Amino acid sequence: MDMITNHPPTAELQALDAAHHMHPFTAGAELAAKGVLVIKSAKGVTLTDSEGHQLMDAMAGLWCVNIGYGRDELADVAARQMRELPYYNTFFQTTHVPAIALAIKLAELVPGDLNQVFFAGSGSEANDTNIRLVRHYWAAKGKPDKKIIISRKNAYHGSTVAAASLGGMDAMHAQGGLPIPDIHHIDQPNWYAEGGDLSPEEFGLERARQLEAAINELGEDKVAAFIGEPIQGAGGVIIPPETYWPEIQRICDAHEILLIADEVICGFGRTGNWFGSQTFGIRPDIMTIAKGLSSGYAPIGGSMVSDEVAGVIANAGDFNHGYTYSGHPVAAAVALENLRILQEERLIETVQQDTGPYLAQKWKQLADHPMVAEANSVGMVGSLALSPDKSARAPFAAPAGTVGLICRDRCFANNLVMRHVGDRMIISPPLILTKPDIDTLVGRAYQAIDETYKTVQADGLFKAG
Ligand SMILES: *Cc1c(COP(=O)(O)O)cnc(C)c1O
Repeated sequence: MDMITNHPPTAELQALDAAHHMHPFTAGAELAAKGVLVIKSAKGVTLTDSEGHQLMDAMAGLWCVNIGYGRDELADVAARQMRELPYYNTFFQTTHVPAIALAIKLAELVPGDLNQVFFAGSGSEANDTNIRLVRHYWAAKGKPDKKIIISRKNAYHGSTVAAASLGGMDAMHAQGGLPIPDIHHIDQPNWYAEGGDLSPEEFGLERARQLEAAINELGEDKVAAFIGEPIQGAGGVIIPPETYWPEIQRICDAHEILLIADEVICGFGRTGNWFGSQTFGIRPDIMTIAKGLSSGYAPIGGSMVSDEVAGVIANAGDFNHGYTYSGHPVAAAVALENLRILQEERLIETVQQDTGPYLAQKWKQLADHPMVAEANSVGMVGSLALSPDKSARAPFAAPAGTVGLICRDRCFANNLVMRHVGDRMIISPPLILTKPDIDTLVGRAYQAIDETYKTVQADGLFKAG
């Protein structure tokens, strides 16, 4: 029998993993010493590890398993498509039915006139596409100097050289000589950490107006586009003040620049609408999609493009860009089936009208804990800020992430997968989470936070920096 169906015991798997497998966003030596967690199977919202422990996955994998684990329909569709046509490309004037069917469905679901899709294998690849697309667009319109893309500090747009350059993560820029030229970062709309004495509304306007100041400073004739996540995900689930996106939209309308909404997390129901752009009133020219597009069952991403932009590109000769797996037939068929389930089972309506408001109400109660300064959510995504001095929104004296990591470990010990970004705890559970599941999630989160609180006090870490 092969190793997958008949695997060795956990300790041996951990040793083999350490010997041969380099992990993303991980300190390899540290992980090797500790031993990696081996996930074996999953169903619904529950993961089972190689020792038989069951954990509630409040992160939906990496923000992606929107319909939950274990849906046979997707497995069946994948098997059928592999037998019919496992692979063909979409280069050089060829196509196949799954790519066409998915493109039609996306044009129907995505708001506005974003009726064309350029397929990629991931969100990072799609954002790479976007950089080339917007620059090629302006060049085709006789404005080759419009190249600069304005993004935000602490944004996450993926991990390829170009996508990580668009992103505003210092720790990523520090490795490998990033960012690439002609990417400009403005400040993020993170009121909790950076809002000072301003009200959230005032702060949202102030941060949005940095876009206008940047356009004026760099020159409108040099700026191609602005890119932003409706809610910053990997940056810590930063829900912007209500004033932020309308002002960004006004500025984009008033200036000749394209607006790119990176919907890789917010898309496909995460915020209680099909897209975060609908939740926040954004009218993008280009939208990045991935993750929830296939609920993570197959790797696929893409760029949704407006009729105007797609029309210009179509008449500008060959677009010299593409991926071997652009519109991969198995991934496209799986994504289409995922969208059918999201739509026919009304999962997004349920989040919007029922489970999202219930989560918001329960999650908010966590802010009653003496170490939780803020607890917010939209739809099925939320965050809370741990603080030793709630009223001052003060950070801990210990390096950022020290307390967050303790809390993450207490979550695991309480059979809950929650992630930490610095000292923020974040959730992005499958959209199928029921009200009893929400009670379980919030109960375990409270328990983990309280155990963290006691540890932090005992270790002398409960002090502001
Ligand atoms: C995850 C993510 C990406 C990158 O997607 P990959 O599929 O990991 O390449 C891009 N943008 C946002 C907002 C993301 O959360």
